[in-house]
Amino acid sequence: MILLDGKKTSADIKEEIALEVGELKRREKKVPHLAAIIVGNDGASLTYVNAKVKACERVGFESTLIQLPEETTEDELLNEINILNVDNDIDGFIVQLPLPKHIDEQKVLLAVDPAKDVDGFHPENVGRMALNLPTFISATPFGILELLERYEVETSGKNVVVIGRSHIVGSPMSILLSQKRKVGNATVTLTHSRTKNLEEITKEADIIVAALGIPEFLKGDMVKDGAVIIDVGITRVADPSKKSGFRLVGDVAFDEVAEKSSFITPVPGGVGPMTIAMLLKNTLIANKRRNS
Ligand code: NAD
Repeated sequence: MILLDGKKTSADIKEEIALEVGELKRREKKVPHLAAIIVGNDGASLTYVNAKVKACERVGFESTLIQLPEETTEDELLNEINILNVDNDIDGFIVQLPLPKHIDEQKVLLAVDPAKDVDGFHPENVGRMALNLPTFISATPFGILELLERYEVETSGKNVVVIGRSHIVGSPMSILLSQKRKVGNATVTLTHSRTKNLEEITKEADIIVAALGIPEFLKGDMVKDGAVIIDVGITRVADPSKKSGFRLVGDVAFDEVAEKSSFITPVPGGVGPMTIAMLLKNTLIANKRRNS
């Protein structure tokens, strides 16, 4: 069994990005600038967004964090987005989700200039991704493709089973892996909460992407020997022995599945760390597109 080490791989990617930024500085070019908008005080969202800002600083990007109060109106948020859309210094920006209930998420995502949409959530970018055109692939699926590529996991002609059909993970993952691309050309089955006899389907899989958000859902007897396992799930489970009071648990029963698998991502330290690295990569791509 080989561990698909997202922690190390994401550190490698950040190192490569930092080198490119160093080169931009040396040539007195503009360095990438990522902005993030967060509305409200949700603890987990603040942690995520702060981690993104810190990651920018570490690779030499400029970053701007715009913190808006919980009671911000939809119009006020749309106004902030328009300011970032026209700000020539900003290469890309994200609106941290989820948003407070009184704000229409779709309306907000539609307001982001697709050329600055480094999260890849704008319908135009999702459409371009589905058509295999140049776009911003959203960070989690992009990170999984990158991990598979760097560990030279063969996907062509393989049976892939994706569990979960969310817009941010399962659905794009199934599209990307079925496409004619370097990490792709797979025969993909997209499964979800209404799928019948899931176990029979997963047992036939060469590669399983588990993205359903149910801790330790995928058991050893649901996978065949030699399968490649990508565990996207992150659930906080109460654990009084930890300083934080919780631990992070994936969608895969790691020990029993790892025994049978050829490659597997751990949680934490697998797909999670890749997400921020790929957001940085998208921001670098946005910077290059804007300045070419
Ligand atoms: P979601 O809640 O939007 O969707 C879950 C999907 O799982 C749904 O499509 C549903 O049909 C399917 N599902 C639910 N129960 C099922 C069952 N019993 N059998 C088969 N399918 C079932 O999920 P999401 O936003 O894609 O997130 C999934 C998990 O991945 C969560 O734990 C989330 O925290 C994590 N996540 C991690 C990252 C990362 O960077 N590592 C990024 C995004 C999400």
